[in-house]
Amino acid sequence: MSIVVRAPAKINLQLSVGPLRDDGYHELVSVFHAVSLVDVVTGQRGEGVQVSMSGEGSESLATDDSNLVVQAIHALAQHAGGMAGGSADAAGTLVACDALWGTGLSREELADIGARLGSDVPFLLFGSNAIGRGRGEEIMPVLGRGQFHWVFALADEGLSTPAVYRQCDTLREGEQIRAPEVSDALLHALRQGDANALAAALHNDLQPAAISLRPSLRSLLEAGVEYGALAGVVSGSGPTCAFLCRDSAHSIDVAVAMTATGMCRTVKRATGPAPGARVVTPTG
Ligand code: C5P
Repeated sequence: MSIVVRAPAKINLQLSVGPLRDDGYHELVSVFHAVSLVDVVTGQRGEGVQVSMSGEGSESLATDDSNLVVQAIHALAQHAGGMAGGSADAAGTLVACDALWGTGLSREELADIGARLGSDVPFLLFGSNAIGRGRGEEIMPVLGRGQFHWVFALADEGLSTPAVYRQCDTLREGEQIRAPEVSDALLHALRQGDANALAAALHNDLQPAAISLRPSLRSLLEAGVEYGALAGVVSGSGPTCAFLCRDSAHSIDVAVAMTATGMCRTVKRATGPAPGARVVTPTG
């Protein structure tokens, strides 16, 4: 029996970074938005744990215990007493193993396990739109209307998430860092399904840090807006940049223009919100 799970990518419509905590994480307010770019995780019963990956960039990923998929398998196995997109793959793996092993855990229970694997994993189990608090793992769903159209520009090389957070601290040294708050304007834009209002409300506190570590991101963001995107924002800790578009046709125009710049490795279109990690094969 094989279990096939689709797990979405996400962007942070808002990422407000508060003070550094004693445990090395930052207190966050994040507004997560799952999009229709998915990773597919296939699970099969067998002896021990074997992981293989295919697709763009997968050859550079470790298959040992540092891989989040392997960690997700062990985390659920421990819980059940049985045997980046890292975060999406980890969420997909939790759902796949839960179905394969018949552990029958709720999303909330899987999210508790997921939070131990990474701050973004719980959201990817729920999908849609949600506010994340704490270090991003405390999820509260948010109402939204309609679909938004995005273009994603993927850079050649990744950025290290811890390094981007450290750079954010360095850039803000000496500043008074207040507790982060969710933007009412952003929630309103989501409720109205208003792309222009959402464009105006997109905000990422990690963007200056990502740009200072990778200055080419600034020109990439500028190019997107120049080619007509309503707004561009660094997604999470980067280096992927997300561009909000008016509609499907507009996103095709922006994607074609961004591809022609030659400034990024790959350009992808997606819509959001999208569902969380879910089984797409019958479980029988
Ligand atoms: O939770 P995750 O493993 O994805 O976090 C990766 C790194 O990002 C952490 O080790 C930490 O350096 C940084 N981080 C943070 N504050 C958060 C989330 C992540 O400083 N809220």
